[in-house]
Amino acid sequence: MKPMGSIPADFGAGPSLRIAGETAETWVARAGDTPVFVYDLSIVAARIARFRAAMPPGIDLHYAIKANPFAPLLAAMAPLVDGFDIASIGELAMALPHKPAPTISFAGPGKRDDALAAAISAGITINIESAGEVTRALDIAERAGVTPRLAIRVNPDIELRGSGMRMGGRASPFGIDVDAAAAVAKTVVAAGADWRGWHIFAGSQALDASAIIETQAATLELADRLSDTVGVQPPLVNLGGGFGIPYFPGEQPIDIEAIGAALGDRLSERDRSGTRHAIELGRWLVGEAGVYLTRIVDRKQSRGETFLVVDGGLHHQLAATGNLGTVVRRNYPVSIATGAGGDTETVSIVGPLCTPLDRLADRVSLPVTQVGDLVAVFMAGAYGLTASPTAFLGHPLARELLAGVDTVR
Ligand SMILES: *Cc1c(COP(=O)(O)O)cnc(C)c1O
Repeated sequence: MKPMGSIPADFGAGPSLRIAGETAETWVARAGDTPVFVYDLSIVAARIARFRAAMPPGIDLHYAIKANPFAPLLAAMAPLVDGFDIASIGELAMALPHKPAPTISFAGPGKRDDALAAAISAGITINIESAGEVTRALDIAERAGVTPRLAIRVNPDIELRGSGMRMGGRASPFGIDVDAAAAVAKTVVAAGADWRGWHIFAGSQALDASAIIETQAATLELADRLSDTVGVQPPLVNLGGGFGIPYFPGEQPIDIEAIGAALGDRLSERDRSGTRHAIELGRWLVGEAGVYLTRIVDRKQSRGETFLVVDGGLHHQLAATGNLGTVVRRNYPVSIATGAGGDTETVSIVGPLCTPLDRLADRVSLPVTQVGDLVAVFMAGAYGLTASPTAFLGHPLARELLAGVDTVR
C-alpha cells in the first residue's frame, strides 16, 4: 500500500463527501454524466478573503487564469480579484469580457505580432519578455497610433527555494536578464509608452513560507535597484507568486499570514507611495476548490492486484497521474464518494487510456467498491482539464460545473 495526499479540509472523505453541501451523485446528475470537474466557488472566495486579511494594504491580487480558465469561474472571480494575468491571445479573449482592460496583464514568450496588436488595441498591459519583443510592440503601437502599456518582465537572479518549478536564477526564455532590464525600461519610457513597471516571477508551488519571504524581499530589493537605475517610479511591481498547495503525503499548507506580515515589514522600509504591488496566484486560489468525479466502469484482478478502471483519466487530469512536471509519481488524495464504506482494500485506480501512464492512484487503501461507484480525485481545481491532453484517444471531454455560487453572492 502507498500513501496519498490529504483530502482538503473543506471536504468530507468517502460517502460523506459534500461539495457545496451536496453529494457527488447530485453533482453528477446536474452535469448529466461523468467525468465531471466541480469547482466550489465558496472555497475560492474564502481563499481570496484570507489573502486580503493576511496581506498588507496596497497589495493587489492577480489571478493567473491559466490555472483554471473555466468561464463561469472567471466571471465569478473577476469582482473578487484586482487583475487577471493571461498568457496567450486565447486567454485575452477569455479575460476581456470579465475584467477592465487596464487590470489585465499579458506575460509569456513568443507573443506574435497579432497577439501584441490585439493586446495593444485592447489596452491591456504587456509584460515584455525580450528586447526584440519591445521593439515589435513599440512599432505596432506607433502604427496603430496607440500608447501601449508595457511592463518589463525581469529574469531575476533570484531563485525560489523549494519551488516545484524554478523560474529564476538561470538562462531562461522568460523575461529580460537583470543586467539588461533597466535599459529596456528606459527605452520604453523614452519612446513615450506607458511604462507600467516590473514583473518578477521567481517560481511556483513553494510550501515553505520562509522561502517565499526571502524571495519577496530579494524581489523588492531588485525592483528598487532597477527603478533607481531607470530613475522613474514604477506604477506597479508584480512580485510574482509561488504559493503552493499540499498535493502529496507529508506536505503542509503554506503559512500566508507569516508571508503577509513579513511583506508588510519590508514594504514599510522605504517610501513606496506611487507604486502598487501585486501578487499573482493560480493554484493557491483554485486548486483545492476542485474535485474530479469519475465512475468505476470495471473492477479487475491481475496477478494479485485489484484495479478499479474508471471513465476518467490522464486525458482530463494529467497532473494526478504524475505526468505534469513531477519526477517521482506520488498519489494525489482520492476517495470513494459513494457506497457504504466499511472494509477497505488496496487498489490502483486507472483510466481508460491505452497507456500505463493512465493511473490516477497507485496501490492506495480505500473502501471496497462496486462497479458504478464514484471516485473523487481532489486538488483538481488548477491545471486540470486545460492542462491535459484532452484529444488523446478521443474519449469525451469532461464536464465542468461551478458550485457554491449562491453562498458567495
Ligand atoms: C503560471 C504562472 C503563475 C501561476 O502559478 P501558480 O503556481 O498556479 O500560482 C503566476 N505567474 C506566472 C508568470 C505564471 O506563468
